[in-house]
Amino acid sequence: IFQLSLPLNFLGTIYREINQNLLDMEVLFKLREDNPPIKDSPNAKPLMLSPPSTSVTTKNGVSPASNGTSITFENISFSYNPSRPIFNNLSFHIPAGSKAAFVGPSGCGKSTILRLLFRFYTPTSGRILLNDQDISQVQVESLRKNIGIVPQDTPLFHADIMHNIRYGNLEARDEEVVEAAKKANVHDAIMRLPESYKTKVGERGLMISGGEKQRLAVARVMLKDPAIIGFDEATSALDPQTEASLMKNINSTLLGDSSSDVSEGKPRSRKTAIFIAHRLRTIANADVIFVLRDGSVVEQGTHEELLRKEGVYARMWAQQANAEGGGEEEEESITA
Ligand code: ADP
Ligand code: MG
Repeated sequence: IFQLSLPLNFLGTIYREINQNLLDMEVLFKLREDNPPIKDSPNAKPLMLSPPSTSVTTKNGVSPASNGTSITFENISFSYNPSRPIFNNLSFHIPAGSKAAFVGPSGCGKSTILRLLFRFYTPTSGRILLNDQDISQVQVESLRKNIGIVPQDTPLFHADIMHNIRYGNLEARDEEVVEAAKKANVHDAIMRLPESYKTKVGERGLMISGGEKQRLAVARVMLKDPAIIGFDEATSALDPQTEASLMKNINSTLLGDSSSDVSEGKPRSRKTAIFIAHRLRTIANADVIFVLRDGSVVEQGTHEELLRKEGVYARMWAQQANAEGGGEEEEESITA
């Protein structure tokens, strides 16, 4: 009986892990059969984001990125279909612990950058490095544990709200789920639902607004607490006020900025974040903004630097400022 309980526990752990990663894939890409799963190379090693001597494995197996993690794309070429190249020698470097943003026209490959980083697709040439580790040489599971994505459109599962957020970390306690919801500015909206956290959503469940779905996705990633976070137009469905307030929370809590450097007594390291934004206003405070055109970076710098350049970015900024003169869209509200 004793001998049996160990393997069963072990199977439980494996099941949870598989479940978690299937979920990440589904959430992120909304496709299942499209792409063959990526296999680890025979000598693949776990991703190590901090020196072994100080490394402590946290409860959900995420490496604590004590010094932060840099992201480097080195001469990346990629296409979904050989007749239409997406990237052609794309190179950029995001320093550890910084907030980077990618802007560019729809279809230029912004979401693809996150897909390559997550290793859902493999570049045809070039390397992607986290610190000094080539991600093609690490175990894909360990890579994905350290990356959290808030996708453009998050499908919800037919389950209650508590479960839907807990997918970010299946071991989180109820109080931690609620804490994450507060940080994602969605707790109050949840409390107004008929059965609050026990309200069933998703297919055949209660319909909730796009803005609420996005904030549930942010709460999920807050629970996952990875070293690298990608926000793919994650606040696009929010009204400007809610968006501003959520961005503030994302900056202070998730990225371990300034005053909230200590959370629950443990020091937090700054995360490395990638923002993909349609509304430039939301990324104006990024440490570095990359402007994509025709498969590569044509401009990079801070918002002020790029405005001074009077190039592509400055024109995009002027265009949006003009367009914004009109009325503000209202967030859809909950409909049963
Ligand atoms: P962005 O996020 O900048 O709008 P994407 O990275 O989603 O652009 O896509 C870049 C281009 O690749 C688009 O033209 C898109 O239609 C195409 N694309 C995206 N995913 C696939 C896919 N799975 N198969 C084929 N083409 C794709
Ligand atoms: Mg996109």
